[in-house]
Amino acid sequence: MPIDATLPYDDQNIFAKILRGEIPCKKVFEDDWALAFHDINPQAPTHVLVIPKGAYVSWDDFSAKASDAEIAGFVRAVGHVARALGLVEPGYRLLANIGMDSHQEVPHLHVHIFGGKPLGPMLMR
Ligand code: AMP
Repeated sequence: MPIDATLPYDDQNIFAKILRGEIPCKKVFEDDWALAFHDINPQAPTHVLVIPKGAYVSWDDFSAKASDAEIAGFVRAVGHVARALGLVEPGYRLLANIGMDSHQEVPHLHVHIFGGKPLGPMLMR
């Protein structure tokens, strides 16, 4: 079910539980600003999610309300993870779904990193 990204943050969402250590994840990277882990239902040979440590529903919420330090830390973490996964030379795709029309399912900001094969043109179906 897609979520309404304009609603207040729900601290019972699954990524909040992962951040609190209540649910396990296959961790790729963690620092003060971000946690990266493998998607449970991968759509590419490499499919990693990067989430900020702070409580933000979506990219919209984050870009409007996060501090400069949080934004810098998160953006640098996404780049670091992609480099650490060896994706820069072959190339990769970033995706952040925001709200109903994008079919965002988890109401905690996450950036998908896809790679590991030629991904083809981005299709809007
Ligand atoms: P989105 O549609 O952008 O909200 O994507 C949510 C993503 O979270 C999907 O790709 C799911 O496969 C993934 N996901 C949901 N639960 C988990 C989990 N417990 N661990 C890792 N990935 C998850």
